[in-house]
Amino acid sequence: MICEGFAYIKDKNLANEKVRYKCIHANAKTSCKGYIWLQNNSLLLQLNGNILGNEHNHIVEPDHIEAKKRMKDFKENLKVQQHTDVGILVANSRDCETAVANVMPNTSNMKRMGRRAKRKVRNCFDILFVLIFMM
Ligand SMILES: [Zn+2]
Repeated sequence: MICEGFAYIKDKNLANEKVRYKCIHANAKTSCKGYIWLQNNSLLLQLNGNILGNEHNHIVEPDHIEAKKRMKDFKENLKVQQHTDVGILVANSRDCETAVANVMPNTSNMKRMGRRAKRKVRNCFDILFVLIFMM
């Protein structure tokens, strides 16, 4: 699981549907103490809105950062390039180093995201049209 550029694996189930995830570098060699907690699949946050967890003793995963950036661009392109085929946008986004593409959602998931995003925009236009029509 990726969260803010760090990669985690499930560590243990706790009470009240809480699950602890540990950093993938939490082994004997690197001994990172990075942890996060999820409850009912949501991240537990501190009162200030920061993610509740321990500090890492290393920088974020560069491949994940790049993947995250490409996903952000992909979502932006879905909005801007309404008439471009979703498959083409997905292919463009995944046209990068394999290591980066590997940590992005897979092609079919991205296509599904794309179709959902397009539908949402179309619905907004319909509502706008109705509103104008009613005025
Ligand atoms: Zn870590």
